[in-house]
Amino acid sequence: MTKHLFRDDSYLRSCEARVTGINERGGLLLDRTIFFATGGGQPGDIGEIERADGSRIAVGATVFAEGKEQIIHVPAGEGPLPQVGEPVVAHIDWARRYRHMRMHTALHVICAVMKTKITGAQIGDQESRIDLNVEEPPEREAVLAAIMDAVNQDHAITTEWITDEELDANPDLIKSMSVSPPRGSGLVRLVRIGENFDLQPCGGTHVKSTQEIGLVTITKIEKKGRLNRRIRIRLDD
Ligand SMILES: [Zn+2]
Repeated sequence: MTKHLFRDDSYLRSCEARVTGINERGGLLLDRTIFFATGGGQPGDIGEIERADGSRIAVGATVFAEGKEQIIHVPAGEGPLPQVGEPVVAHIDWARRYRHMRMHTALHVICAVMKTKITGAQIGDQESRIDLNVEEPPEREAVLAAIMDAVNQDHAITTEWITDEELDANPDLIKSMSVSPPRGSGLVRLVRIGENFDLQPCGGTHVKSTQEIGLVTITKIEKKGRLNRRIRIRLDD
């Protein structure tokens, strides 16, 4: 299994690791990684794997292997691959990832402000969208004011863990109708914003305080079905 270092510290930009395998398509497996694997609407990281001789292998995508334990670092191009057992240093494209963290946290804030279930989400480094299970169109100015109020209150974002059984006993914690909670190990990671602003199971990467989200712009509110409104957002640079 790959140790998912980003889960405990989403601010790590590089880490030392050892190659534990290369799959049939040339994907690199490491014993530990800071590369987030695509999931829950958040794109996987891109970056570089630095070999002991200083050469670098560009990573163009990061995905989970079946079972969601191993993480596959997919090389962006052709070229020599490291040996199994070789020590390497993994580097992510931090500017892109940090935008994903700000966007991802902003979507949690929207979910909390709208007090409803999520029916879909897609995070991008330029624009992100969240689909919400509401009938009435959200009022843009009011929603934006509530989002910016939460940003300016500088709520801390923290994680905690509960057992699968505890989650089963508290199904209201689950806010997403489209992404299932990150189960598998017997424990589920919860992401908390403020003391009680938002609390939900999530396996993604987030910033550590809402102020880091910065200025949010709602670019569009669309109707996507009778009970589905899509909010698109952008962030300041
Ligand atoms: Zn999240």
